[in-house]
Amino acid sequence: MKSPVVFLDRDGVISEEKSYVLSLKDFVIFPYSKKCIKKIHEYGYKAIVITNQSAVGRGMLSIETLEQMNKYLLDQTEVDAIYYCPHWNNNNSKIKNQFQISCNCRKPKTGLIEQALTEWDITLNNSYFIGDRASDIELGKKMGLTTILVESGYGLERLEYEVFPDFVCKDLEEAVLKIKGDL
Ligand SMILES: [Zn+2]
Repeated sequence: MKSPVVFLDRDGVISEEKSYVLSLKDFVIFPYSKKCIKKIHEYGYKAIVITNQSAVGRGMLSIETLEQMNKYLLDQTEVDAIYYCPHWNNNNSKIKNQFQISCNCRKPKTGLIEQALTEWDITLNNSYFIGDRASDIELGKKMGLTTILVESGYGLERLEYEVFPDFVCKDLEEAVLKIKGDL
């Protein structure tokens, strides 16, 4: 049987939100994240991270460093998979690299979730998207997911545009209680 999924944004949900996380030492995973991912698994969901990392396209972060962070995140939290968009589409950039394209994977575009659907035995039925930004909620809604906005990152007062999440929770711990049905 196909597993439902809890899709999670990374920065502000699983780890501390900083405008850009550019090295492993800047990458601070919240102390409760591992426990939360364990619960998500116990409730029968896959836990898949969907993250925009435009710092790569901006020339501020190498793919190698990002892959190190991914390995660390997988080790520390035991999420099932991490899908990221490294792209940044800006022709005026002084630094040029191959990640400066108009892609179909930068949230709120759907490419990363579509890729996950081809690589995992998962269903979007009864599935969730947990994020801290408007693009997370927009993507979750597009894909028919139940959306949870958490306030542990950008927060409600810094939403880039108006969105209507199904639920608002303080952080991932509270979101997991919501998924379990205890809230
Ligand atoms: Zn992309």
